[in-house]
Amino acid sequence: MRYADRVAGIPWERIEEIRKRLGERPALHFIAGAFVPSESGETFPSLDPATNEVLGVAARGGEKEVDRAARAAHEAFARWSRTPARERKRYLLRIAELIEKHADELAVMECLDAGQALRIVRAQVARAAENFAFYAEYAEHAMEDRTYPVDRDWLYYALRVPAGPVGIITPWNAPLMLSTWRIAPALAFGDTVVLKPAEWSPFTASKLAEIVQEADLPPGVFNLVQGFGEEAGAALVAHPLVPLITLTGETETGKIVMKNAAQHLKRLSLELGGKSPALVFADADLERALDAVVFQIYSFNGERCTASSRLLVEEGIFEDFVGRVAERAARIRVGHPLDPETEVGPLIHPEHLRRVLGYIEAGKAEGARLLVGGERALTSYRGEDLSRGNYLKPTLFVGENGMKIAQEEIFGPVLVAIPFKDEEDGLKKANDTKYGLAAYVFTRDLERAHRLALELQAGMVYLNSHNVRHLPTPFGGVKASGDRREGGFYALDFYTDLKSVGLPLRPPHVPKFGQGG
Ligand code: NAD
Repeated sequence: MRYADRVAGIPWERIEEIRKRLGERPALHFIAGAFVPSESGETFPSLDPATNEVLGVAARGGEKEVDRAARAAHEAFARWSRTPARERKRYLLRIAELIEKHADELAVMECLDAGQALRIVRAQVARAAENFAFYAEYAEHAMEDRTYPVDRDWLYYALRVPAGPVGIITPWNAPLMLSTWRIAPALAFGDTVVLKPAEWSPFTASKLAEIVQEADLPPGVFNLVQGFGEEAGAALVAHPLVPLITLTGETETGKIVMKNAAQHLKRLSLELGGKSPALVFADADLERALDAVVFQIYSFNGERCTASSRLLVEEGIFEDFVGRVAERAARIRVGHPLDPETEVGPLIHPEHLRRVLGYIEAGKAEGARLLVGGERALTSYRGEDLSRGNYLKPTLFVGENGMKIAQEEIFGPVLVAIPFKDEEDGLKKANDTKYGLAAYVFTRDLERAHRLALELQAGMVYLNSHNVRHLPTPFGGVKASGDRREGGFYALDFYTDLKSVGLPLRPPHVPKFGQGG
């Protein structure tokens, strides 16, 4: 169905053309500067979440492809890590420009492949370009660190060097934005890359490889292996020539990757799951809190790592505030991701839909009160048939913090509202989770806001706001949500090795061994 002449500024004919091409051309690996199929010739299908029809196929990589890519990255590292920073910067800026040039194609591909509304994905593509432009500026400063004059006798300085090829393993929810967020600092700081994107949304990674080729990045600096986690992903984690692995994915995957990487003592950056709380106090700007809370859980189809999926509301305003959330949730427009009015699109895959529906059943079984949704959306807000896709009605429960739906990451448009008595009770409930990615606090009491910012167990805390990413600031989680920090100079700790260099400024005393000294 044609929704408009242009969607998110893209002419409808162009959208059709891009969809057609996805079906005609397999998404290939990109190794040592060339697009290649798997040695076995095997491919795997990627489904259109709106209909579950095959959108296109991607090459199914395994040990052999990962080995070739790792060797290419290893060989290229010798040159790229010595390439002057100003030159690396120019490549990054070129890639940023080319992402902008190909923005329509990238946005449509990702919209169709991941099921995210086109207008949302368009912003993600702009952020992908920004990731490169931002880290381009860091390239020339990447190796700066401290000096340590010791009295007047010694000078020590700390020096950073590129740490080696990086294996980047990414999830399906925001494939382009999340992968570029790792690729850009890696390249800026002198590392080479092997990317393994998620098998449920493989297409924009291959388009990015085309862009890298168009930017004339030297062969082997960026490599891509398509495939499944247990095959290509595991082979990458096990490969001896790739000393760094950054994984964005589920906490359970993080555990497996950590175990496998331990065999090789690899450096890991883990960005994992979340069950982030939003605390709403009675004194808050409730209109702002309402907008933020509804947006944070239902936008992006609820498939957002930093979603505030636990809504903790002070008792006195609980029924009223949650009632307003329910009104909004019930009115959210569920529809096709190409429909410019759509607010929630289909979940990525039938398997994921089943999983999310399983949580809804678990919530009911545990006695949570279902206020809105709780079932598949079979017609769109326009009345179109959605029954072939993975659509779910935005869902709101009232529950308790100990329930499965309040403790486990659902990764869909499902919110659990829980009352709290006072600040202490709210904080206790907020921290009573194995996760610690983000937390949100809504109050007009400044002292309380800062007290909670200190006490909340989360890598990122937002006060009176939804999550607005600012690239120089540290991004990451605590507890089961991950360990490292990415963003700005914080990424340096992962992508570079730090060494200390000592130089005496006058002859040092060296004991004369062998001379009785
Ligand atoms: P996932 O863990 O299933 O997969 C992530 C990636 O890991 C995929 O590329 C997959 O192929 C790969 N993988 C799976 N098993 C592997 C193995 N044994 N060895 C190596 N690689 C393997 O996650 P998903 O379902 O694609 O994404 C959703 C999850 O990602 C959610 O938990 C979400 O919170 C998390 N996420 C976290 C962040 C963050 O920054 N913290 C951002 C986005 C998504």
